[in-house]
Amino acid sequence: MTKLALVLPCYNEEEVLPTAIERLLALKRELVAEQLIDDASTITFVDDGSRDRTWQIIEQAAAKDSSIHGIKLAKNRGHQNALIAGLLNVDGDAVISVDADLQDDLGAIREMVREHAAGAQIVYGIRSARDTDTWFKRWTAESFYRVMHLVGVDIVFNHADYRLMSRAAIEALAQFDEVNLFLRGIIPQLGFRTAEVRYARAERYAGESKYPLSKMLSLAWNGLTSFSAGPLRWITMFGIVVSAFSFAVGGWVLLRSVLFGGNVPGWASTVIPVYFLGGIQLLGIGIIGEYISKIYLETKRRPRYIIEKTV
Ligand code: UDP
Ligand code: MG
Repeated sequence: MTKLALVLPCYNEEEVLPTAIERLLALKRELVAEQLIDDASTITFVDDGSRDRTWQIIEQAAAKDSSIHGIKLAKNRGHQNALIAGLLNVDGDAVISVDADLQDDLGAIREMVREHAAGAQIVYGIRSARDTDTWFKRWTAESFYRVMHLVGVDIVFNHADYRLMSRAAIEALAQFDEVNLFLRGIIPQLGFRTAEVRYARAERYAGESKYPLSKMLSLAWNGLTSFSAGPLRWITMFGIVVSAFSFAVGGWVLLRSVLFGGNVPGWASTVIPVYFLGGIQLLGIGIIGEYISKIYLETKRRPRYIIEKTV
């Protein structure tokens, strides 16, 4: 029987945690009764440097029930780092990561475990409907998946970080020690036999989103620039097109003045290209700088998270 480990990153989740713990324990009992998972299965909460009572709640729950564990990070490191801290520090034959806010239907866990038992090493949870998200969240998220596909990054459409990974897949993941972490980009690169499970996404059970627009944009940008050199290539292509065009125009102006004499009076034709090219150069330098800053962060090899304590 599978020994399952559930991993839930939480950042200031005091409002949802008590209910989440209750529901997870109930689910565990059901799955054990259905003989899908082993009784030694665990539930681990990763406290991503919360400022509220999150850690106290985890500690109390761990004291009451031996299947509950907690990992406290020394500081808020963001969802992706909290996730990897959990994934790499729990044991079990299969690990499922899910958000603590109960937005993702916990019922999908049963299906994931079944798929794993049937031989899948990675099982993706796919949101089949997004009607509870605001149109803005839906639109930004869907555009993100589209842009990623456009630049050739292999990610699973409408799959966030709700997934099952087998021990072998986790061990493969452990070998990727990049600092600019974007799990949704890395995991499809692992290979292995995969499966998908569909579920409806609910509203946050309580509290508000810990993913404001700024964090969403930063995750999207990180995902794009960590997995694709596309933007760099576009700049080059654009540069080639613009210079070819300038050459053509230059040639034409020269030919005209030789054939017909006289200059075309006009500063616009001189000044506009200067601004235009200046803008393109700044854009190009900015994008190159973005990649260099990634190289800078990667070469420092700083730890992705620091564990303060565990229960
Ligand atoms: N989270 C985290 N660290 C952060 C931000 C979020 O561990 O810096 C956790 C959060 O507690 C939740 C999950 O990541 O369990 C997803 O966050 P949220 O529900 O706020 O994002 P949304 O569903 O709105 O995209
Ligand atoms: Mg959420």
